[in-house]
Amino acid sequence: MILLTHAVIGSVVASASPNPLAAFFFAWIGHYCADAVPHWDYSIKNLMAKAESGKSGLSAYINKNTATDLLKITADFAGGVFLTFSLFSPTGSAEIFLLAGGVIGGVLPDFLLFLEWIFPNPIFRRLEKFHASIHSKIKMAGFPLGWATQIFLIAAGLTIIFFR
Ligand SMILES: [Zn+2]
Repeated sequence: MILLTHAVIGSVVASASPNPLAAFFFAWIGHYCADAVPHWDYSIKNLMAKAESGKSGLSAYINKNTATDLLKITADFAGGVFLTFSLFSPTGSAEIFLLAGGVIGGVLPDFLLFLEWIFPNPIFRRLEKFHASIHSKIKMAGFPLGWATQIFLIAAGLTIIFFR
């Protein structure tokens, strides 16, 4: 699922969590549950090609071929942070940390995937294996069917945030 959807789910988890650590942990678990639902994902084929070539290190991933993919990911993540922080409107550091815990935990498995490509190691590899095993194997096309599950999750999440 796109990072924006994971960020919204993470923020909902945060709104029901007693502290930032719990928000982080439950949102992290929530990421895997959300990925198990069939959905559409945007293409990051340049980054995937680098990963499949077995190259590691930051320089293998950050170059002009991967710039579009990195831009998509950055815009997606920034959109998720902007949306959740504007809707949640946290007041004070306790609420900011709580929301940040949920949003960071919510997107963590996808960032771990990127970190695994750059810094391959057994822990990241194990986590990524689990991530891949639970991720839906149904590749949905784009609009409207592929977006439906994510639009539903975002709408449900925003409704919960709005009426909390
Ligand atoms: Zn994921």
